[in-house]
Amino acid sequence: VPDHFDGSDRSESRIQPGRSSAQNGIAAHVEALPLVDHHCHGVVRRELSAAEFGTLMSEGHGPDPADGGLTSGFYDSQLGFALRRWCPPVLDLPAHATVADYLGRRAELGPDEVNRRFLRAAGLDALCVDTGYVPEPVLSPVEMAALAGARAGGHEVVRLERVAERVAAGGAGAAGFAGAVRAELAERARTAVAFKSIAAYRVGLALSPDRPDDTEVTAAADRWLRKAGEGAPPRLADEILHRFLVWCAADYRLPIQFHVGYGDADTDLRLGDPLLLTRLLRALEPVGAPVMLLHNYPFHRAAGYLAQVFPHVFVDVGLAVHNVGHRAPVLIAETLELTPYRKFLYSSDAFGLPELYYLGAVLFRRGLADYLADALRRDAMTGDDARRVADLVAFANANRVYRIGDTGEPASVSAVS
Ligand SMILES: [Zn+2]
Repeated sequence: VPDHFDGSDRSESRIQPGRSSAQNGIAAHVEALPLVDHHCHGVVRRELSAAEFGTLMSEGHGPDPADGGLTSGFYDSQLGFALRRWCPPVLDLPAHATVADYLGRRAELGPDEVNRRFLRAAGLDALCVDTGYVPEPVLSPVEMAALAGARAGGHEVVRLERVAERVAAGGAGAAGFAGAVRAELAERARTAVAFKSIAAYRVGLALSPDRPDDTEVTAAADRWLRKAGEGAPPRLADEILHRFLVWCAADYRLPIQFHVGYGDADTDLRLGDPLLLTRLLRALEPVGAPVMLLHNYPFHRAAGYLAQVFPHVFVDVGLAVHNVGHRAPVLIAETLELTPYRKFLYSSDAFGLPELYYLGAVLFRRGLADYLADALRRDAMTGDDARRVADLVAFANANRVYRIGDTGEPASVSAVS
């Protein structure tokens, strides 16, 4: 058992007497796998009040006013119960500890120790960290990897809209905008492993397929900057400019992550359906940049379809996995109805709280192990196949697409390729 599983009681719970040795074997294999978290954010280092903890746990919604503003209401949720089930043992408390006991123990240990324990317990081999969402100071990708003991390191994912907003705030006028964005992206592409688009949050995913020319970009930038000049913050929300950024990113052949589906109240979920991206995906296919559809819930089956029909499309169900709590196995099984095994990746989409990096990993492992044990029970694959599929999903697909870590295939693949 690798050292990053200290404090976890997962093994005991996964080996079940009613199961065959092959089914128990796959559960043990999945538990010990190193994971690549291909989309997450930084963790906060400071002490958190109970109210702040509750707010960071949820997707940003405040407490129910009719509940007297009690943040304890957050825990009567799928995520709240998952947290009480899995997180207390990492802090030396029994599973299902009360919220008060849990927060007390958390305060006693202090943020550095709590961060270290959860990130270690997640069993991560590498992290790809979106550095574009920083409402408060968080750890850098390198600091995250050190804390997690991730041998293959912490890697940066550059948020495209933040680059554009920085260029705009830096005083590049409309005429200089396209060139300044391209120069900045060229600089960032030297060290980043991927780009990320939050078009879903700003204008929705119904992006036109065509690459806008510089005349269109300049006109759109002029409209945007003039609005920004009238006192509005330079918050990008323009279909042409989001599309311009995606096409610029595609020139680097680095993976482009798209926020899809589930998110906080800032997103219009109807416009986050990945099927709205179909025409742009078709246009991007010959370019060769992998497209990573993030989160996807509740459109995960549609995302699986896109991953099946487009060679450059990959999917995950990060963020949703820990928010659906004990239903994570159902979510993973539904996603894997159609998503090819070489197109499915792990991510937590965790931000701020170290618990979320751990919960994402625990619930993902359990869901994947259940799915594979079921496949074995149905004689849908052999034990060797199940282990190879687990390796692809846990780390090998991410290593291949992001060109990080050990880029080798799982051992048994070489025999058939
Ligand atoms: Zn994210």
